[in-house]
Amino acid sequence: MMTNNTEPIQQIVEAIRARQRFVLSSHSRPDGDSIGSQLAMAYALHALGKDVVAVNADPAPGPLMQFPGVPDIRIAPRVDGDFDAAIIMECGDLGRTGVEGLDRFFVINIDHHPGNANYGQINWFDASAAACAEMVFELVRALGVPLTTDIATHIYLAILTDTGSFHYSSISPRTFDICRECLEAGVDPVLVARNVYDSNNMGRLKLFGAVLSAMQLDPTGRIAIVYVDHEMAREAGGTYEDTEGLINLPLTVKEIEAVVFFKQIEGDEYRVSMRSKGDIDIGAVAKEFGGGGHKNAAGCTVRGGIDALQKLFIEKIDRAIALQDGRVAELQEGTGRGTL
Ligand code: AMP
Ligand code: MN
Repeated sequence: MMTNNTEPIQQIVEAIRARQRFVLSSHSRPDGDSIGSQLAMAYALHALGKDVVAVNADPAPGPLMQFPGVPDIRIAPRVDGDFDAAIIMECGDLGRTGVEGLDRFFVINIDHHPGNANYGQINWFDASAAACAEMVFELVRALGVPLTTDIATHIYLAILTDTGSFHYSSISPRTFDICRECLEAGVDPVLVARNVYDSNNMGRLKLFGAVLSAMQLDPTGRIAIVYVDHEMAREAGGTYEDTEGLINLPLTVKEIEAVVFFKQIEGDEYRVSMRSKGDIDIGAVAKEFGGGGHKNAAGCTVRGGIDALQKLFIEKIDRAIALQDGRVAELQEGTGRGTL
């Protein structure tokens, strides 16, 4: 498949062939795409006889620990030792890794997040990829490495999770071409889905119940607001990690078009996750608050009183919905709905 990305991918192939020792990292608080991209890459480099170490700032969520190689990823705040190159996947900037010391090496940046900061010696960026692992798939092929079941499993895991189980608008024919090849390489999609989605603990289910019971809607009924703090998690017998995926549930209601999820970090500091349907660009909203992500899935970290923050995010998301609705002219004339 010829794309505009032929040049960086070829540079990466040459850079990999010319080097021996690689450190692979991805973003802090890993998800299916960061882990899947990282380990697919690790297995491919192993197949080429390279020395590979994978380092992340945080451990993978429990369900992902069931996939090959995940428990072997080193968890550390900095990387020690010498490497010929660092391959960073799924990170808009190097700071997203949460791992210090990677900038000492020749950095290869592979990412699909809009606004990537081009922080590498080689930068390969493709916003049209539904998952970073789609890019890794192409790289594996360009390296001439056979698609083993382990590599294919990680690529499929990444695509399944980063498309929100094939819900997001980033999906393309290429997405399904790659998934087909993964299945032909021996991936069991039923097993992957069960490992990812059906292997939770009871605390998680109870925490989902508590958080969803307290869910609020904006006056239009199109935006859901969910909130969790440490006390709610403790009372339910779950952890913050257990809330992974919860944000997608309000979107199962037909009328709800966007969700904003506030997780208290400490005091007035909150981690904000957002999801949307269709063309509602909440990635742009996250960017306004110094975060990032994609049109349908994005996040940021903010400080402030929770009531004021909720009001502010509802306003911004309502504006993103208005842009999709074509109500923009109305809003600019000040004749739009409510608070806008
Ligand atoms: P999350 O809500 O944490 O699952 O994140 C959804 C998407 O937004 C993922 O693709 C993240 O990589 C991206 N994202 C979340 N937080 C940030 C951030 N602070 N900066 C850049 N991208 C982010
Ligand atoms: Mn991704």
